[in-house]
Amino acid sequence: MGKTETRSTCCYCGVGCGVLISSENGRIAGVRGDPDHPANYGRLCSKGLNLAASAASDSGRALYPEMRMDRNAPRRRAGWDEALDAAADRFAGIIRRHGPDAVAFYVSGQLLTEDYYLFNKLAKGLIGTNNIDTNSRLCMSSAVAAYKMALGADGPPTCYEDLEAADCVLFAGSNMAYAHPVLFRRLEAARAARPDTRWIVVDPRRTDTAAMADLHLQIQPGTDVALFHGMLHHLIWEGLIDADYIAAHTEGFDALKRMVRDYTPKLAAEICGVSAEDIIAAAECFGRSRASLSLYCMGLNQSSQGTAKNLALIHLHLAAGQIGKPGAGPFSLTGQPNAMGGREVGGMATMLAAHRDIANPAHRREVAAHWGVPEERLSPRPGLPAVEMFEAMTRGEIKAVWIACTNPAHSMPDLPRVREALARAELVVLQEAFADTDTAAFADIVLPAASWGEKDGTVTNSERRISRVRAAAPPPGEARTDAWIAAEFARRLAARLHPDEAGHFDYDGAGRIFDEHRALTVGRDLDMGGLDYALLEAKGPQQWPLPAGSASGLARRYEDGVYATDNGRARFHAVDYQPPADKVSAHYPFRLISGRLRDQWHGMSRTGRLPQHFAHSPEPELRMHPEDAERRGLSDGELVWVASKRGRLALPLRRSDEVARGSVFAAMHWNGRFLSSGGVNETTVSAVDSLSFQPELKHAAVKVERAALP
Ligand code: SF4
Repeated sequence: MGKTETRSTCCYCGVGCGVLISSENGRIAGVRGDPDHPANYGRLCSKGLNLAASAASDSGRALYPEMRMDRNAPRRRAGWDEALDAAADRFAGIIRRHGPDAVAFYVSGQLLTEDYYLFNKLAKGLIGTNNIDTNSRLCMSSAVAAYKMALGADGPPTCYEDLEAADCVLFAGSNMAYAHPVLFRRLEAARAARPDTRWIVVDPRRTDTAAMADLHLQIQPGTDVALFHGMLHHLIWEGLIDADYIAAHTEGFDALKRMVRDYTPKLAAEICGVSAEDIIAAAECFGRSRASLSLYCMGLNQSSQGTAKNLALIHLHLAAGQIGKPGAGPFSLTGQPNAMGGREVGGMATMLAAHRDIANPAHRREVAAHWGVPEERLSPRPGLPAVEMFEAMTRGEIKAVWIACTNPAHSMPDLPRVREALARAELVVLQEAFADTDTAAFADIVLPAASWGEKDGTVTNSERRISRVRAAAPPPGEARTDAWIAAEFARRLAARLHPDEAGHFDYDGAGRIFDEHRALTVGRDLDMGGLDYALLEAKGPQQWPLPAGSASGLARRYEDGVYATDNGRARFHAVDYQPPADKVSAHYPFRLISGRLRDQWHGMSRTGRLPQHFAHSPEPELRMHPEDAERRGLSDGELVWVASKRGRLALPLRRSDEVARGSVFAAMHWNGRFLSSGGVNETTVSAVDSLSFQPELKHAAVKVERAALP
């Protein structure tokens, strides 16, 4: 086979860096940054630089299908036909006996857009259930809800070039230096070129990002809405709002203005635990700068007030006219490589394809016609979002679940309840590249999936840019691509439920799936009518919208001040501050914040295979302010129990003033593969945001106690 070089995209984060994969004799041998990719121009972070080593490793890979007929028996090796037929038999039987909502799919922002599209069509079109949700629910659903409510449609109005054009950069709940490192390098270069650029970081931790800021607002966890309202109050008081922009392009400002009247910087300072002077300084910088850009991520989204936090930040942009121009706008950063692609195909329980609504009969009709299924097949009932999906399993309402490329037994909140749900389900099918995840222990059928570098398709990054992902090596053992597995299962299920629809899942390559997907976007806000594989091949990655006839995609949205709402006006919403759901008390006095390490990714199914990813942070630990540790007589390295009302885990303690007194921090990556007592989500709470259904993974009330020696 010799040597080849394949152009593709990094599989880790939403920056979406382009890579060139070199392979020799069917094995991936090297990865370098693609100098022509507009996200990274050749740069890669530590995770991207080690992609070749992780792709070449067979450690933990699922190599052949496994199944068991009896819950108490071990799984045995099976053939693909046997495993897929058994899955189709069980799904069809449950659907016939209990209806389509008795089954569910829990998928992943790691899937390619084409994979996502097939799963969505399978659940909503073939089976007739909206019970398909994704680990992106845990990641960015609050951003989706707020964009829709404020701007009329999902998706950021901004682009990466805005990083270089901003004068004031407001980071909110984002440790970008760790979570989106290549974009952070772009920002650093922009600040070096224009030293008068100001950085403000809002974060309850002094992260590496915060340490580099001109102003760090170290707020109490969960108080962001009060902070942003305090800033808006100051903008209004000082005449720093853009009254002409508000009058011409928005509605609902007066109700919000009445609400924030009470949120003086003094009151906001009391709620947030920072000084009123710092809140005023942040508002002054934001309001007076020529271009203010906000960058935000899990710190806003993973909250029982996630949508309100996003809205309160977007309000600042709309009120100050800091949107729709170079260097300005609210820019949510997607955590996963294809969280955005999943949103485009409607791969969530609460939406339909191409930003359509489940509750809208015309939207259901359009999608049903496109899929060639009866209109009444598409259910008008929203499906169950992630947390509710697992609760419905515990109650026996969902009897079979298909999990694709994600590890809910590690990543969901309140893990004791999630394990109970998986144990109670009649059937758990796991489609995964790795056979040793926490979730695999519950699977009745394991289907080995191809991993990065072994499959074809597309992903969409944080700036709405679609890039090709290409196979550079064959999958190991009997592993198959996610699209192949989804289509094979769909054909078998169709044969049992709707035999005349078995051909609906026949595609001649990933490009045909993409064509079917993009046809649904025509005329919508994300119109991809002119964006196909041929264009991506000829011109490289492209942003949407890119309607037929356009030479290129739209870099920045709403520059004309016309929003995607019915009347073209952006909307303010008078959302009030609410404290986090899990209250600290004398018994549970600490606020536990979870977060990410620089060189690890998710549950470490990939990064945890290589020693180089442990050099920066070798051990799990609980970080506690030195004064709190002193008062409790706890020393560095001492093993402590971190316990909430839900569960507990044991971690070595580390004194660190990166957290304020009363808060503690633990990384979310560690799990049952590394720690016998499990990961941080043993303790987190399953409370969700009422609009986005995103759980509050960033805040749990805990106690910390010295662990007794065995
Ligand atoms: Fe991959 Fe994200 Fe690093 Fe780029 S910044 S190399 S996409 S992990």
